[in-house]
Order: sequence, then structure tokens, then C-alpha cells
Amino acid sequence: MRRKNRPALIAFAMRTLSSIKTLQKILQPLHGRKRIGFVPTMGAFHEGHLALMRQARRECDYVVVSLFVNPLQFGPKEDFAAYPRPITSDRKKAQETGVDLLWTPAAEEMYPSPYRTFIEIEEITRRWEGAVRPGHFRGVATVVAKLFQIVRPDRAYFGQKDYQQTRVIHQMVKDLHFPISIRILSTLREKDGLAMSSRNQRLSPAERAAAPILFRALQKAEALVRKGARESPPLLQEVEALIRSEPLARLDYAALCDPKFLEPLERIQKGAVLLLAVKIGSVRLIDNVLIDI
Ligand code: AMP
Repeated sequence: MRRKNRPALIAFAMRTLSSIKTLQKILQPLHGRKRIGFVPTMGAFHEGHLALMRQARRECDYVVVSLFVNPLQFGPKEDFAAYPRPITSDRKKAQETGVDLLWTPAAEEMYPSPYRTFIEIEEITRRWEGAVRPGHFRGVATVVAKLFQIVRPDRAYFGQKDYQQTRVIHQMVKDLHFPISIRILSTLREKDGLAMSSRNQRLSPAERAAAPILFRALQKAEALVRKGARESPPLLQEVEALIRSEPLARLDYAALCDPKFLEPLERIQKGAVLLLAVKIGSVRLIDNVLIDI
């Protein structure tokens, strides 16, 4: 509480730290008094990340951003080592966005050896990203549960770009009774429609030019639904044909599902989510759109 005659401090420097104990010491007096907003990330910040931070800044008293490239959610053949880690520019961007605390935990502290505790979420992780990336959601759920447990935020912010992940988090928060309100923000895109992603940096110029094919495919499906299409198989055929027309693109999956449990739909009735995963060269991109009818 500020005393009446004391001048207000105009700007605070953002704190950056990695120790779990220090973080908890800082947050402990804030719990129950200040609304803590939390944005979990793997860094290489782009406007999508910054939008989550801005929303947290608007809605909360104290904003914590975690930056942790979580080894547990990468498969052995995936891009953990190649994942971009521009920590200096990330720190600058977070500071400019008004983040109070940037937390960069170390893998050795997050997963002290021997590490034995994991979170497994059933059914909703079985298909799509879960099928293509075995163990991915076990890694995501485990790290997010740990981050929630350590930070104990009031609100946590996630992007719709990782749609299945948002459903997994919702399920986990419900099943484990985390007293945290989950906020999902819509996907931020480049001018040509490509969903912003840290992985976009790894596209060659030719691949970057090919990458908006995902967005075009989502738009095509939306347009077909607007014109009255309701049956999934012909809709998905159109989407697949468009992806195939791009020589650098290889489709992993295109799926029309119910937006809650992500079960495939034969027919769109109340609305659906169209999930898309496409490899452009060696970079795997995902995107989605919610189709309202
Ligand atoms: P990541 O660092 O890729 O783990 O992403 C951290 C958070 O930012 C996740 O909740 C993502 O869903 C979200 N995010 C990533 N890309 C975007 C985007 N283009 N628009 C909005 N949110 C995003």
C-alpha cells in the first residue's frame, strides 16, 4: 500500500530469474491480494506471445511469463536442439510489454534426477497431435501442471493456435481442481495469413512463401461451409487437394471435429473445429479454425 505523501514509482524494471524458490518467495505475499496473470511460453517471442502478455497485463495486477523450452514435450526426432532461443531479445520484448517477472527455469531444477511424476490426460490426447507426436501432451500437461503448481496464478493465458493443447489444459484444470481461470486468445497471423509461430523462423524463403497454404485451406473450408457444405468427407477432400497443390507441403492430417472433445465429425451440426497439420520442408506447422454455423 502506498503512503499518501510518497511519490509514485512510475516504472518498474522487469525481474528476470530462474530459481523456483526465489520465484515462490516473490509471489508468496501476492497470493490472495493481487491477481496474478501467467503466460507459459517456450520463448522466441512474436506478436502472438505478446498479445497474451498484453491481455494478462490488462486483466491482472502482476504478470508472470515463463520461458522454458520443455524437453519433455519433444520427441527424440523432433526439433528440441534446433528450437530458437533468442533470450536477449525475448527479455527486451517482455519488458516492453509490461511483464513484471520473466521466469526462465532450468531443466535440471524442473526435472531433478531421478524424476518420476507425470500427468497423463486420456482420450483427448489420443488423436491428432497426440497420435503424430507420442508423449507430446504428457510432456505439455506435466510441465503446465508443475508451472501452475509453482506460480499458482489466478489466470493463465494460452493461444487458440495450439487448439488441442487448449482442450488438454481445460481438461487438466477441471480434473485436478486447479483454481485457475483459463483464457484462450485467438491466433495472431502474418499479413498473408500464416499463423505466427516460433518455428516460422526456420522456413527457407521458398518454404515461407508456401506456408500460407494452411490458412488458405482453412479459408476454403470456411467458404464452403458458408455456401452450405455440411458433410465432412467432401470438405476434407477439398482441403487436402489444396494442400497437395503446393509442392513443398505434405499433409499430416486435416480433421473436422467437435470443438470440445475433438472427436471426428461426419457432419457439421452445431459447429466444428478444423484442425490442420502440414509439413513445409522440414518444418511442421499447425493451424485451425472454429467453424460456427
Ligand atoms: P509456445 O511458446 O509456442 O509454447 O507458445 C506459448 C503460447 O503462445 C501458447 O499458449 C501458444 O498457443 C501461444 N501462441 C503461439 N502462437 C500464437 C499465435 N500465433 N497467436 C496467439 N497465440 C499464440
